[in-house]
Amino acid sequence: TSRHLSNASVEEEKTLAMIKPDGLFSNHTDAIKKVILDSGFHIFEEMITQLNKDGASSFYAEHSSKSFFSSLIKYMTSGPVLVMVLEKENAIADWRNLIGPTDARKAKSTHPHSIRAMCGQDLEKNCVHGSDSLQSAPREISFFFGGTLSGTEATMHDEL
Ligand code: UDP
Repeated sequence: TSRHLSNASVEEEKTLAMIKPDGLFSNHTDAIKKVILDSGFHIFEEMITQLNKDGASSFYAEHSSKSFFSSLIKYMTSGPVLVMVLEKENAIADWRNLIGPTDARKAKSTHPHSIRAMCGQDLEKNCVHGSDSLQSAPREISFFFGGTLSGTEATMHDEL
């Protein structure tokens, strides 16, 4: 029927969301998950894991030449993270909009209802991550949830 056809045409999209070490440490997990579910996302998969130096460096490889890189790696390896695959129509852009701008301090004035305004501290410790494009989302999802086929994931992070 036409009703079934229109339902089938809705494109579900997946993105990688992460609660970074500061977000887990400060107990923001339940509040963040409430925002996720209230915003219509389905949590398709989730895992608590600990990035090691190689894993964090690989995940943020595009920033390896930046001045903030070593500090970023130290931050990202400072404790466990909660990674989630979120599913929804337009998930990538909608999750980026929900988390708000990179600088959590600025987010508090310009995007006061964003997740980074709620639980982030500054430009580095911004409590959450979201894939930024159709290219990065599948790459980041398989980084954490790709299984052990290639054997590389095991050297990047340890499931807790
Ligand atoms: N970051 C930082 N200093 C900067 C820019 C970024 O410490 O000047 C950190 C911050 O934790 C950010 C991450 O590096 O979330 C990745 O930066 P990106 O520009 O990709 O921001 P995002 O996509 O996370 O908003």
